[in-house]
Amino acid sequence: MSTRRAFLKTSAIAATSATFLPRVSWALEQAAPPATPAPPNIYQQLMAAGPNTPVKSTKLTDTVYLLQGVGGNMVVQRGPDGLLLIDSSVATAADMVKAALAKFSSKPLKLLINTHWHFDHTSGNAAMHDAGAFIVAQQNTRVRLSAPQHIRVTNLDFPASPTSALPQQTFGDREQLFYNNDELDLVHTPDAHTDSDIFIHFVNANVVHTGDLWFNAMYPVIDDSTGGTINGMIRGVDQVLSIADDRTKIVPGHGDLGDKAALQRYRDMLATVANRVEKLKIGGQSLQQVVSAKPTSDLDATWAKGMIQPDVFVTLVYNTL
Ligand SMILES: [Zn+2]
Ligand SMILES: [Zn+2]
Repeated sequence: MSTRRAFLKTSAIAATSATFLPRVSWALEQAAPPATPAPPNIYQQLMAAGPNTPVKSTKLTDTVYLLQGVGGNMVVQRGPDGLLLIDSSVATAADMVKAALAKFSSKPLKLLINTHWHFDHTSGNAAMHDAGAFIVAQQNTRVRLSAPQHIRVTNLDFPASPTSALPQQTFGDREQLFYNNDELDLVHTPDAHTDSDIFIHFVNANVVHTGDLWFNAMYPVIDDSTGGTINGMIRGVDQVLSIADDRTKIVPGHGDLGDKAALQRYRDMLATVANRVEKLKIGGQSLQQVVSAKPTSDLDATWAKGMIQPDVFVTLVYNTL
């Protein structure tokens, strides 16, 4: 993109002045397409899949359903107050998400809650807002979406979002909503997957959406470029465990629907890796030495099933301890 922009700019200058011609031919050579185009990155893959991926729904209670399409897991609650949605998938999936919502109620989508700022949970915000939704999130979600952001672990850059995509009501530590005859507790977990994460507890329904605190049965992304840390992840998971019981249905940000036992196993894995890496780091080992030591080798068969491979996870843990 930037190469093309630079080329177009140079061409425009060249059209007005013959003295720039030599530079134009140089630019043309530089702008030649590479022999093998780079594979699409995760953002491009998800945006391409958005329009064609149906949204699958799973009943959690009479009023609360899990929705899974492209991007992060969503939850919808229906009732007399109208539809409430947690997270908005990617922008290109908006029609698929709206079609899924229409099956639950003839009442409109009224409220959208974002678990955190990442695009696979918020880039459908503008479409949902235009369809009538009021958007609520932790205050750092609005701060992050209001300005350009870079995610180091995936090497992705994002421009500031349009006003219609921004949360309209924000909060700091916690917020309580009473909606569709349930109590929703929205709890900020600082410095966890990012600096903007919340989990949402439907108290009466006994359902929790953890956002990206939890990648079920996978090493998680820790976005260390926007405030994520391994110890914050562990503390956040502990907060969810403290309000869950054996019958709580726990929706992870990514992966299958889970329960307290599965979340506890994930918590134990996080703590095990953090302890091992911390010992090596305190002992003076460099990042390269720690990665080479493969401190997760006995865990990888179980946990290296998502987008984060062991070396990357160890790097994220080391860098955020
Ligand atoms: Zn996500
Ligand atoms: Zn995320």
